[in-house]
Amino acid sequence: MPTVRFRALEDINKREILDIEFPSDKISDYFGTNVFDLNKMQKYLSKEAYLGVKKSIETGNKIERRIADQIAAGMKDWAISKGATHYTHWFHPLTGNTAEKHDTFLNIDSQGNAFENFDGELLAQQEPDASSFPHGGLRNTFEARGYTAWDPSSPAFVMGKTLCIPTIFISYTGEALDYKTPLLKSIQSLDKSATEVCRYFDKNVNKVYATLGWEQEYFLVDEALYKARPDLALTGRTLMGHASAKDQQLSDHYFSSIPERVLAYMKDFEIEAHKLGIPIKTRHNEVAPNQFECAPIFEEVNLANDHNLLLMELMRKIAGKHKFKVLFHEKPFAEINGSGKHNNWSLATNTGRNLLKPGNTPKTNLQFLTFLINIVKAVKTHNDLLRASIVSAGNQHRLGANEAPPSIISVFLGIKLTEILNNIEQRIQNKKMTSDEKTELKLDIGKIPEILLDNTDRNRTSPFAFTGNRFEFRAVGSSENSAGPMIALNTAVAEQLQIFKTDVDTLISQKMKKDEAILKILRKYIIESKTVRFEGNGYSRDWEKEAEKRGLSNIKSVSEALKAYISKETVELFEKHKILNRKELASRYEIKICEYVQKIQIEARVLGDLSINHIIPTAIKYQNVLISSVKDLKDISNDNEEYQVLAKSRIETIKKISRLATAISSKVEELTDTRKKANIIENCTDRIQIYEFEVKPFLEDIRYHIDKLELIVDDEIWPLPKYRELLFNR
Ligand code: ADP
Ligand code: MG
Repeated sequence: MPTVRFRALEDINKREILDIEFPSDKISDYFGTNVFDLNKMQKYLSKEAYLGVKKSIETGNKIERRIADQIAAGMKDWAISKGATHYTHWFHPLTGNTAEKHDTFLNIDSQGNAFENFDGELLAQQEPDASSFPHGGLRNTFEARGYTAWDPSSPAFVMGKTLCIPTIFISYTGEALDYKTPLLKSIQSLDKSATEVCRYFDKNVNKVYATLGWEQEYFLVDEALYKARPDLALTGRTLMGHASAKDQQLSDHYFSSIPERVLAYMKDFEIEAHKLGIPIKTRHNEVAPNQFECAPIFEEVNLANDHNLLLMELMRKIAGKHKFKVLFHEKPFAEINGSGKHNNWSLATNTGRNLLKPGNTPKTNLQFLTFLINIVKAVKTHNDLLRASIVSAGNQHRLGANEAPPSIISVFLGIKLTEILNNIEQRIQNKKMTSDEKTELKLDIGKIPEILLDNTDRNRTSPFAFTGNRFEFRAVGSSENSAGPMIALNTAVAEQLQIFKTDVDTLISQKMKKDEAILKILRKYIIESKTVRFEGNGYSRDWEKEAEKRGLSNIKSVSEALKAYISKETVELFEKHKILNRKELASRYEIKICEYVQKIQIEARVLGDLSINHIIPTAIKYQNVLISSVKDLKDISNDNEEYQVLAKSRIETIKKISRLATAISSKVEELTDTRKKANIIENCTDRIQIYEFEVKPFLEDIRYHIDKLELIVDDEIWPLPKYRELLFNR
């Protein structure tokens, strides 16, 4: 009987490459066909209802009940025409996944006749019994109800046979239980602050929205191999496995031609994504073997984030058809690159201007500099909050590893912009500027677009890099809901822009000219935020030392980093902008802490089980083979001397195996004891200390010994698929 591993390897040889048929030659023919967008609304709704929903999308205002009824009826007719039988409120609980509870459109009238029904009330609100979603102490089970409420700014869509309605999720008492609620609030707050600042430059601006273009990295593993690896299946990452002799050293995977079976998978999920209006644009191989990436055309941040979550769901689903498993974990394999979700973020106005793109006039360039510098300042001030928004058990393995940004949150601007900021700093001194100085400065600022044209330097080691017309927040983990970091960033920038407005207005009220006041304040911010700017190699040890000198925090511990969520500064910031209140922040903190504890707990259990049930028995089995072969050698040897020569290396291997197996079992025992000690502690805030600083180190230690064993034991009896098999089958 072959082992599970060999049966899995046999399965792979039988894989077929699916033939993917495109619905049409042109993507634009089927793009958005499964979305109830404005075009379809126009067709299915009365004029009144159409205008009502359009206005609500633009202004965020509530929709009247009467109109909601009309919208619901139109939405239902459209969904049924697409084959839908069910509807669901689609929301993002704090698990980081998406959630849905399906109901049919079916209704029965008083005569007992069946008919399809969907009204405004069902559209606007649902009341899922949601006591099992994480709430971090916000709800007691006796008031388990949660409410979902429609978010008209993200259009409904049909997936399979279900009409999905994007919604927010709040508790009976009105606290947010999801990511979307605070995201929408942060968008509003940012809009308000940014619009006011824009109006210094252009009175036509009455709305500013954040844009997001995410780059999603992921790994693919054959389904059979995945199932033969309980660690992958239960924790999303490999808890053991010696590095493959060849992995990413040759960089021969990055941007190389996409393997056919993978390409079929990509085409398949892209077709479904395009039908759902997700504007996927780019696909390519990433650096590590079996690692890939896709990216869309950027969109408004709320929609973009819904699309990212929806795409991840699609990718998981469609992987099954191709006998793949998709891994979104930040570090599924040791020693090779992990996966991130780079959040490309910018600000756009209703007048069609990207505020992080320099313009053609000194005025638009001053506007560009205003936003750029304020964002740098926001990152400096809210450094710890931004870090807290991206840390997790998975991302902890990635951050600060060789290929990923460190846990120091710095900003990269590029040489040219740095020069410009330095110039502003030097030219405007605290005295009044002469007209010559003003002209020179204007000229400088006027040159920005030309300068940036050839400013092609890209810094891939920065967690927060300016890339010509946007910032790229690269520290975000691949499995994360980007709403977390986007809420933090939007809010931090909203606050900073508000402060800026006040500062400038104060100078203006003292009779200073507007442009001069703006420059004066910008200069002040340039100086105040200087320490957060870093142009060098963010992966180097030197940077860590330098950052320490500059007083930048470098918090590697998850439990420590998460504390920023409940710091005085964060509570004040979030309450001031009405994003989340103290209680809601405390609950989120609690959820994050508990999630970390649970993840490490599961990893520790899985590693313990695998060690005792898979690894040690295999070691003993092989050891016994060696022992009997050593005995046989005795029989065929002419004398003891000859026997010693023949048996030497085998005896050494036996001893080595013994030492490794003994170390593994005693460490597993210690690990179990440590866990027991931790589990007596009631609250996660204390428990996490033991999990992070005592339990977690065992995982590395035990793994080290198992990986050594893997190198010695007969390949034929090794039970778990090896790295070379997981990473090179596609
Ligand atoms: P790279 O790997 O060079 O960073 P990609 O093409 O993989 O570039 O991804 C760039 C992402 O940035 C895309 O999703 C793109 O739509 C997005 N992007 C471009 N401009 C903006 C912008 N103004 N706001 C937000 N995202 C943007
Ligand atoms: Mg990028």
